[in-house]
Amino acid sequence: MRAMKIGFIGLGAMGFPMARHLAKEHDVTVWNRTGEKAERHAREHGTRLAKELADVAGNDVIITMLPTSKEVDEIVHALEGHLKPGTLWIDATSGDPNVSRETAKRLGAKGVEFVDAPVTGAVVGAENATLTIMMGGSAANVEKAKDVLRLNGKTLIHVGEVGAGHAIKVLTNSIMGATVWITSECLLLAKQLGIDMKTALEVTNAGSGRSNASENLLPMRLRDGKWPLVFKLAHHDKDIRIATSLAHQQHASTPMLALTSQLFTAALHELGDQADYIEVAKIVAKMNGVEW
Ligand code: NDP
Repeated sequence: MRAMKIGFIGLGAMGFPMARHLAKEHDVTVWNRTGEKAERHAREHGTRLAKELADVAGNDVIITMLPTSKEVDEIVHALEGHLKPGTLWIDATSGDPNVSRETAKRLGAKGVEFVDAPVTGAVVGAENATLTIMMGGSAANVEKAKDVLRLNGKTLIHVGEVGAGHAIKVLTNSIMGATVWITSECLLLAKQLGIDMKTALEVTNAGSGRSNASENLLPMRLRDGKWPLVFKLAHHDKDIRIATSLAHQQHASTPMLALTSQLFTAALHELGDQADYIEVAKIVAKMNGVEW
């Protein structure tokens, strides 16, 4: 595949390593709100530093990796007058499908194609280029996006039309959120019943309660007492709230989703913007008047 000119916007926990992998085959220009991160990226990974946001507009492909669709929308507004027809805009943010459909229409009027391509696999997946990437858009646009994003992920799935990638992303994260919460509750109860954490996890992971939460996410926190920040609770809360809004839109009955959303929002208020999502387990303990 020919090397392309790619503009990458948003060098956060995920975007920074993703842009690094793309630079192995492409001519990548980076922009970040906090300019030092982009300077460091250019220095360390041979990418081109965008002096201003508009420098990103002339590329064949523009990728956004931002907190929410709101920030993506602001960037689209800011670049609208500078974009060239034929550009492909890939939004890797875990966004809102309703907003992404509007964005796609606005960009379409400028001759710019749009694919929503949120990812799963955490920072370690971005670092190792093993992300799973779920895409929404026309078959032709998704094929173009795949050609680029194969440098970031192992599993690339075309989910449906524009917005479908964002929709399945928030649903799958909601499944994870509910699983983390119920697993924490039951492991805490096991502890209160006098079963040690190592044994409780061993049995859970050899049995029917096994999940990514019990196998990978909770052991290091509950057994080893390590609570790293890998995915902001604020981002996870946003994903579950989008899922809840989609349920309302469909007039769907989703009580478990509603409860999960309420619990995560309460946990966010309690733990603050910089907490990791697995710290909701601390709230589970607090609700029981104990600590892990
Ligand atoms: P971070 O908070 O680490 O990074 C956010 C990025 O967005 C930073 O580059 C930040 O710039 C930029 N940004 C924030 N606000 C604005 C703004 N108003 N205008 C322009 N740029 C802005 O987030 P992550 O990288 O963790 O997450 C990015 C997306 O990926 C989210 O949608 C998240 O839900 C999703 N995601 C995250 C995963 C994870 O494990 N972390 C896993 C899968 C998906 P600055 O440096 O200036 O703050």
